[in-house]
Amino acid sequence: MSVSENLNSVRKNIPSQVTLVAVSKFHPVESIREAYDCGQRVFGESRVQELTDKVSQLPTDIEWHFIGHLQTNKVKYIVPFITMIHAIDSERLLQEIDKSAAKVNRTIDCLLQIHIAEEESKFGFSLDECREFMASGRWKQMPNIRLRGVMGMATFTENETQVRREFELLSHFFQEVKEKWFADEASFSEISMGMSDDYRIAIESGSTMVRIGSTIFGNRQY
Ligand SMILES: *Cc1c(COP(=O)(O)O)cnc(C)c1O
Repeated sequence: MSVSENLNSVRKNIPSQVTLVAVSKFHPVESIREAYDCGQRVFGESRVQELTDKVSQLPTDIEWHFIGHLQTNKVKYIVPFITMIHAIDSERLLQEIDKSAAKVNRTIDCLLQIHIAEEESKFGFSLDECREFMASGRWKQMPNIRLRGVMGMATFTENETQVRREFELLSHFFQEVKEKWFADEASFSEISMGMSDDYRIAIESGSTMVRIGSTIFGNRQY
């Protein structure tokens, strides 16, 4: 199957109000261009060097999303062009993005990464850490970032019940944060959850953004 055929079959499974982020990490610019030629404009990458290399070779109307763990010392390389950063996992990272974005006069859309999976992971706020950070109000003093929602990854398991439970947890947490801190702000609207193996469950659980790689581009060549 070609990239365009894969892309079209994925699209059939995604309601029009859900944003498809085509995750192109480890795939060549030719594959991205093929998806672009089918009308895809939102692409996700997770490594800074790879992303900046690709950006310079591709059309400027692509909306780039950074979906991986981002180190603070690399923020400055992507801030001039990035549309959204999905995996904000510390206040320090958010502060660095704010500072760096101010220098280039931009406001960057950011999602708070929430640790919802049962399995151990170094990344993401716990629910309570995130609640505390929101209550601190310090995010209000960062004019060059815009909090747009939350992002999470379910446990890598065949157990659909567990995956669904984790996605629903993220959905409920989004509602909680929305009601408490963004009740009057339409821009806090995104729940980024769902990858190739679990995006259907994610959509049923309220996802507004799915990040799909291998189902569109095939297996990654590491
Ligand atoms: C790689 C990656 C994806 C895409 O994964 P697939 O299983 O290939 O769809 C989604 N989200 C994040 C954070 C990733 O790193």
